[in-house]
Amino acid sequence: MSNYVSPWMNEELTIFRDAASRFVEQEMVPRDPEWRRQHHVDKDFWRLAGRQGFLCTDIPESYGGGGGDFRHEAVFFEEQWRRGLSGLGQGVHSITAHYILNHGTEEQKQRWLPAMARGDLIGAIAMTEPGTGSDLKAIRTRAVRDGDHYVVNGAKMFITNGYLGELLALVVRTDADAGARGLSILMLETRDLPGFRVGRMLEKMGQKSQDTCELFFEDVRVPAANLLGGREGQGFAQLMSDLPYERTQVGVQSVAMMEGAIAETLAYVKQREAFGAPLLELQNTRFRLAEAQATTRVSRVFLDYCIAAVATGELDNVSAAMCKYWTSERLQQVLDVCLQMHGGYGYMDEYLICRMYADARVARIYAGTSEIMLEVIARGL
Ligand SMILES: Cc1cc2nc3c(=O)[nH]c(=O)nc-3n(C[C@H](O)[C@H](O)[C@H](O)COP(=O)(O)OP(=O)(O)OC[C@H]3O[C@@H](n4cnc5c(N)ncnc54)[C@H](O)[C@@H]3O)c2cc1C
Repeated sequence: MSNYVSPWMNEELTIFRDAASRFVEQEMVPRDPEWRRQHHVDKDFWRLAGRQGFLCTDIPESYGGGGGDFRHEAVFFEEQWRRGLSGLGQGVHSITAHYILNHGTEEQKQRWLPAMARGDLIGAIAMTEPGTGSDLKAIRTRAVRDGDHYVVNGAKMFITNGYLGELLALVVRTDADAGARGLSILMLETRDLPGFRVGRMLEKMGQKSQDTCELFFEDVRVPAANLLGGREGQGFAQLMSDLPYERTQVGVQSVAMMEGAIAETLAYVKQREAFGAPLLELQNTRFRLAEAQATTRVSRVFLDYCIAAVATGELDNVSAAMCKYWTSERLQQVLDVCLQMHGGYGYMDEYLICRMYADARVARIYAGTSEIMLEVIARGL
């Protein structure tokens, strides 16, 4: 994108971006076709990313993290999404780590965060159920106290990192009658856990290399010491407090995809000819791409404000909802223009623009739908 540089970038982040860009090109791009076929990235890739310092970049060094802030997360995210790489569930991994960092006991932080930063333990968040998504208060998965354990029964749906994840932030109902105040987060170490079962790997429209699964819990015994923060009934508040972080992640993903799609389309219309001249010489091509570029730049500027505010812990819920709503909706428009410029090739899976188009649709749905974002914004009027 013509020489705009995000105001939050600096020399150290530029060096980090160069390293991230090389890592993504060398280690992710060549493997993505295989990951798409098998519907998940390789576990050893998570370890590689951890060992090379690309996981938990914004977790303090004292817990094994990179000691950076959200800007580092955004850089690694951007380098993946602008290339249409959607398999590594870095977003939910980082959010899981943040739940632990922000709400966990000291013992919980020491136990899980270093392993997550190394890529030995992959995080996942399980809120959504077959019967409820937007309405979190309706969650039915039950955790009943039995001595120094909880016994969990229920099912979760659409869980990112559901196949590879081995540390699950599971939202459960610990009090049947207390509505939102009856929710808690239990941290489950799922390796060889009796009663826990990963269902089928879901066949999605896009994001084919991401392992999105159903999860089942039948009389699963979880140590009471795994209750996040150690007190029941805090789940809803814990989830809400990290929403600006989560929603800005979707903003990062959306704007990076817009930028990547425009770069890809520009290269295409410069070399593809129709009626004796490159497509770029047609006024329609130039105007539609100019509109897409303007939309993307305006989105980028607001996103940059949000990234900087998340990094300092100052982003409010309404701005985060605006960021997610605006960027994910604009992403759809921009990708539609870019795909159209590719003609029939844009409809072919081997073309980046085709995969991006399919990958992008869910940005308006997950991490809170566009309608829920409007509800949050409307409440702030
Ligand atoms: C690829 C993918 C990955 C996901 N990853 C995860 C994950 O890792 N962890 C997790 O817990 N969940 C995950 N989800 C679930 C996701 O967050 C939910 O799908 C989403 O919150 C919507 O819930 P729902 O599907 O139950 O839709 P519903 O809540 O049933 O909504 C259906 C429609 O009704 C609208 N609607 C609902 N309530 C209102 C309202 N009050 N006002 C106006 N309109 C409304 C919605 O906007 C939507 O258009 C993932 C989903 C997908 C597709």
